Amino acid sequence: MDVPIQQVIRPATIAEATALLATRPDARPIAGGTDLMVQLRDGRKHISCLVDLDGLGMAEIRRVDEGVEIGASTRMHSIAAASEIRSNFPALAAAAGTIGAWPIQCRATLGGNLVNASPAADTAPALLIAGAVLTAVSTAGTRPLPVAGFFVGPGRTVLMPGELLVSVFLPLAQVPPGCRLVERFVKAGPRREQVIAVVSLAGRAVVRADGTFEEVRLALGSVAPTPVRARRAEAALMGRRPNQETRRGAVQALQHDIAPIDDVRAPASYRRIAAAVLLDRFLLEAARV
Ligand SMILES: Cc1cc2nc3c(=O)[nH]c(=O)nc-3n(C[C@H](O)[C@H](O)[C@H](O)COP(=O)(O)OP(=O)(O)OC[C@H]3O[C@@H](n4cnc5c(N)ncnc54)[C@H](O)[C@@H]3O)c2cc1C
Repeated sequence: MDVPIQQVIRPATIAEATALLATRPDARPIAGGTDLMVQLRDGRKHISCLVDLDGLGMAEIRRVDEGVEIGASTRMHSIAAASEIRSNFPALAAAAGTIGAWPIQCRATLGGNLVNASPAADTAPALLIAGAVLTAVSTAGTRPLPVAGFFVGPGRTVLMPGELLVSVFLPLAQVPPGCRLVERFVKAGPRREQVIAVVSLAGRAVVRADGTFEEVRLALGSVAPTPVRARRAEAALMGRRPNQETRRGAVQALQHDIAPIDDVRAPASYRRIAAAVLLDRFLLEAARV
């Protein structure tokens, strides 16, 4: 791979990394490199210095008060396999497990997936339904960034130049007594495996004993300039049972939550149909489980 990189620096600490990024406008962080190396090769990014994030201790998954914290450099295969994630955030575990093939999952990191900010980033819908809060660090200090406001457009986030994403906090779901939690991540594409999503959907439903929804959170990828929460569809479901009429109402409301475009992967019209199908399937499953 022919890339125009003149220097790769391996800082030993986060402070060293942020100091480098603050003083070198030509430098960018590199984690797994599965997005960045391709962009450099194709001339889509022009950077002469890479700051390697390996070795900064940012690849841990740990239980903290009322949630789980994932280091930004945690690889997808670790997220997909972690019992804390599989049991508490199954949509995120499933999303991580669908990113590329095994070799990609062994390189690709959560932080890279988020900062690359593709509308199709598979972990994003799962983090949106979890209400994740990201932590960014720079020489100016530390700031929390709710994932809900993190994405600004394709390839763009609220992260400032010189800021590093260091971790992602996921609060545990609140499930009242007598309710059950259903959480899924599904994606549609031209193949079952190794596919960039034409549409992805993460859903979380807290279902009461009588089958009505105590809470529903829905988020989709590849249907708008950024991954999006489907607030109108959620409102159409709250307090209701997912019978045929409710599901039809939610699917109609969903069409106002999304703004897909035609591109090389699929026409907008197909994305609208696929989003409706994924939502209907999720609701049927929530009704059944
Ligand atoms: C064959 C292939 C298949 C793929 N399949 C999928 C798929 O199915 N689904 C999917 O969502 N993606 C897919 N991807 C894209 C990619 O693998 C993911 O987006 C991955 O998570 C990126 O992580 P990374 O560590 O490799 O990021 P990198 O390439 O290292 O970095 C990506 C961007 O994030 C920045 N960055 C990285 N870490 C930080 C940090 N901690 N703080 C600040 N900035 C940071 C970098 O500067 C760069 O701009 C695929 C890629 C390939 C090559």
